Amino acid sequence: MTAIQVRGLRKSYQDHVAVAGIDLEVAQGEVFALLGPNGAGKTTTVEILEGHRGRDAGEVAVLGQDPATGTSAWRARLGIVLQTATDAAQLSVLETVRHFAKYYPRPRNVDDVIDLCGLTEKANARVKSLSGGQRRRLDVALGIIGTPDLVFLDEPTTGFDPEARRQFWGLIEKLAADGTTVLLTTHYLDEAEALANRVAVLARGRIVAEGTPGTLGGRATAEAIVRWTDHNGPHEVRTATPTALVREMSGNGELNGLTVTRPSLEDVYLNLVGDEK
Ligand code: ATP
Repeated sequence: MTAIQVRGLRKSYQDHVAVAGIDLEVAQGEVFALLGPNGAGKTTTVEILEGHRGRDAGEVAVLGQDPATGTSAWRARLGIVLQTATDAAQLSVLETVRHFAKYYPRPRNVDDVIDLCGLTEKANARVKSLSGGQRRRLDVALGIIGTPDLVFLDEPTTGFDPEARRQFWGLIEKLAADGTTVLLTTHYLDEAEALANRVAVLARGRIVAEGTPGTLGGRATAEAIVRWTDHNGPHEVRTATPTALVREMSGNGELNGLTVTRPSLEDVYLNLVGDEK
């Protein structure tokens, strides 16, 4: 089953083309990351999928419905975590999550969600006393309280410390293990690599590459750089066949400081996005 299906999606703001005809398919249970530089059209695309923004052209089905005419029953199956923080500052964390749970026909257990989001110690703290990263976790808690089938996460870990990011990744992994589909936008390529089954790179409103994080842009088959050191000093060789090279060079014994490196997701991404500028 397909969770999200998009064909020929277009959206302009006055004469500025923000989304220039994109096709996208996300399977149920998949974690899909949309990558791209500032202004590439990620938020516009996600807002159209959420039903928060109209489109100029194209076919869109999200959980089988057109978001432009989505019913409230359809909306209850979505979990939306926006870039903006929650605005119920006077309530406690527990009160806020409890309050939001009432909007949904099949809410998760409130204490479980608070625990899942690492906010148990802050359950009775007022929202206004939370740090930026803790507020973001609360946003996520509110996004998943309704047991959504599909969660939209727009730059979810911006402002998180490294430990909080890792905890958050664990949370997404748990949601995915439960069969929740996740559409994520992020500027952190390590995050996309850790979480996403598939990624798409958006630049100037078009998808310029799509694939698994490991194979995007021919990454898996790109030339490797082999480095080692011997009595002549350091060596660095680019090769499409690193195994053969290492086998040949190591005939004389151990290679000191041997490393074999392929382009990182960030290298590939910067190449793809750079080509578009
Ligand atoms: P970021 O990574 O900075 O969040 P993004 O990929 O989410 O960027 P969008 O917010 O979708 O990008 O914006 C795409 C383009 O459309 C940008 O050039 C932006 O200036 C423009 N744009 C977005 N919203 C509006 C609007 N309401 N009115 C006019 N132009 C807009």
